[in-house]
Amino acid sequence: NAKAAGSNQWAFFKQQMTKWASERLQMEASLHDALKKEQFLLYFQPKLDLKSGHVIGCEALIRWKKDGQLISPIAFIPVAEDTGIIIPIGRWVIEQSCKVIREWQKKYSFALPIAVNVASQQFADASLVPDIKQLALRHQVAPELLEIEITETSLMNNINDAIIKLQHLKNAGFGIAVDDFGTGYSSLSYLRHLPISTVKIDRAFVNDLPEDGAIASTILMLGQQLDLDIVAEGIETKEQLEWLKQHNCAIGQGFYYSKPLPQAEFEAKYMQPLPHIDQHIINV
Ligand code: C2E
Ligand code: MG
Ligand code: MG
Ligand code: MG
Repeated sequence: NAKAAGSNQWAFFKQQMTKWASERLQMEASLHDALKKEQFLLYFQPKLDLKSGHVIGCEALIRWKKDGQLISPIAFIPVAEDTGIIIPIGRWVIEQSCKVIREWQKKYSFALPIAVNVASQQFADASLVPDIKQLALRHQVAPELLEIEITETSLMNNINDAIIKLQHLKNAGFGIAVDDFGTGYSSLSYLRHLPISTVKIDRAFVNDLPEDGAIASTILMLGQQLDLDIVAEGIETKEQLEWLKQHNCAIGQGFYYSKPLPQAEFEAKYMQPLPHIDQHIINV
């Protein structure tokens, strides 16, 4: 009967909620452990100059190696944000990226700039800007080699605070990119008030190419007017690439070129001191 069915559904719902809550609690607990046990690692995805095909930098993307399995940041970054543990995790990402830059400089006598993602809650933290400066200094990394990626949504959460922090970072010489641009439902015109160097077109709009280029064209035009570098994220096909080149998009990343790679693989593929990357290297 209906009553029994309803109570069965409720029992099922309760069971699911309990399962979900306990999985989440477990994840929270093991995230604390993960830092101590050094279970995080960075993958690197190349960023290319679309015209020449040269690698001009990379994005660091975190992975969690837990019991031999790689866990995606999409699964644990939101939990880390809710519990606050994103602050030390985010700090680890920045420090590790500084170490890698330094390592590349020593090994190859040049370095590629690395872009790191900063979570909303991490960006709101008062110690972020001094931390970034201090870590770069400690590891002797030129600020120009470190780019901070912040999503449009995090910026809009507290735009006044964001402007002040970005100004500090920019004055110190760090690159600043607005990530996942176009998904935040904010007006395009506020961009002119932000001290940023780069805007990354969200992968969803690159995915619309070449059939529907309305949003990508608008962002590219805006970038030209405001003199910003525009990076296309998530390029998967030759057709998307051709469209972007035709519309003067200078920089891109995506599976079409390369997935994010473990550091050793990234180095083997892109860090050989070959002559074709000479003009893009940053000398030290
Ligand atoms: P994001 O910063 O927008 O990074 C781009 C994501 O798109 C990466 O996923 C990358 O692997 C994926 N991607 C790149 N090219 C393509 C493509 O051609 N096709 C498709 N389908 N996907 C592509 P990933 O590594 O899983 O990271 C997901 C998100 O997790 C990132 O989005 C970022 O928001 C967050 N994240 C990653 N690492 C960190 C980190 O160290 N700190 C923080 N706070 N967030 C991070
Ligand atoms: Mg990013
Ligand atoms: Mg993105
Ligand atoms: Mg994203």
